[in-house]
Amino acid sequence: MHAVVVGGGIAGLATAVGLGRAGWRVTVLERQPELSAAGAGILLWPNALYALDALGLGEQTVRAGVENRGDGGVRAPDGSWLSRINGADLERRLGRAAVTIHRAELHRILVAGLADGTEVRTNAEVTAVPDEGDLVVVADGIHSALRRQLAPESRIRDSGQVAWRAVTPGEFDLSAGGGETAGRGWRFGLASVGPRGVYWYAAGPGPLRTTSPADQLAELRRLFAGWHDPIPALLAAARPEQLLHHQLADLDPVPPMRYGIRIALMGDAAHAMTPNLGQGAAQALEDAVTLIADVAGGDLAGGLARYDAARRPRGARYVRDSRRAGQVFGATGRAACALRDLVLRATPGRVALAQAAKTAGWRAPALPVAQRPERGLGA
Ligand SMILES: Cc1cc2nc3c(=O)[nH]c(=O)nc-3n(C[C@H](O)[C@H](O)[C@H](O)COP(=O)(O)OP(=O)(O)OC[C@H]3O[C@@H](n4cnc5c(N)ncnc54)[C@H](O)[C@@H]3O)c2cc1C
Repeated sequence: MHAVVVGGGIAGLATAVGLGRAGWRVTVLERQPELSAAGAGILLWPNALYALDALGLGEQTVRAGVENRGDGGVRAPDGSWLSRINGADLERRLGRAAVTIHRAELHRILVAGLADGTEVRTNAEVTAVPDEGDLVVVADGIHSALRRQLAPESRIRDSGQVAWRAVTPGEFDLSAGGGETAGRGWRFGLASVGPRGVYWYAAGPGPLRTTSPADQLAELRRLFAGWHDPIPALLAAARPEQLLHHQLADLDPVPPMRYGIRIALMGDAAHAMTPNLGQGAAQALEDAVTLIADVAGGDLAGGLARYDAARRPRGARYVRDSRRAGQVFGATGRAACALRDLVLRATPGRVALAQAAKTAGWRAPALPVAQRPERGLGA
């Protein structure tokens, strides 16, 4: 069987790894000149790690990242906890600790996991469903050219919020914990990615800025002056060229995730969500593993129907919940923020832990691995 995977991001590469391990011939079409990821960090919740385990890449990912076993959750700008979740408690609950990793490392691990013989075509922008392949996997991200054709009713929906991300090298005191800090409209998240530094993001209301990165950094330094340590120190050490700036958007409605008996949509192409729950890549990885389990045996009609039935409602739920979280944590009104903080402080820790465990709880099915002839034996 031959799969053509459109897009060499997290979803496409994970699918290519798994189908290659199952013995399929795989072609990856990526429009960029090389398979690489922008230089920021990413939080991988346990469900993402279970998916990577199923692909044989979980342990490498853990080794290349930082396991979150300390305190996390949500803090107020003065550093006091609004809602605290201990990473070790989450690990006890779900069997794995969440991991923060540099995106370039995750990409390197996925690319290294591609089976020998996987064909990767770069500088290959796809504008129509390819003719080749028993299966076409559409994994070309939120702006997917193929989804626009297959599901024109599905639109990119602006959340009215923007974000900046960076990894800033250096030593910063994170002993008080990681996670997110929420003020009025503005939020700041941080976590170590190991020797490469600290991954941080800032999010707030408004349109994409058209000012220079240096001016944007100056704006962030002004906005977050007076917030708890090490936020001002991180922003002081950040360089404009490290900044990545994004509109926060999602898809509405979530389209079908299969078309006929040959096409599967996945990842951000299918259910781009705002990053407020940190679940976009995790859901892309869940898609990949589920699709492989459903179709690797060769039953494309049944497998794609099962895939769509399992993944579309789940993707839609995360799109909805992420958007709601963005409205709560990105609230700008004084009264709305005061109420949010009151509710967060009053919510028992075990309830917050149970909510996090529900969001990140998922176990991967076992995936087939083709027997390959051992080198030096046989003909
Ligand atoms: C600010 C921010 C923070 C986030 N933080 C987290 C987090 O902490 N944890 C988490 O789980 N998720 C997070 N996410 C979400 C996560 O980044 C995405 O859900 C994930 O990258 C989606 O992967 P993908 O492979 O579906 O799409 P993409 O990563 O967008 O990959 C699509 C690929 O397809 C290629 N492509 C596009 N068009 C074409 C074409 N026409 N032909 C060929 N190739 C094409 C692109 O070049 C790209 O390589 C965050 C997102 C944002 C914006």
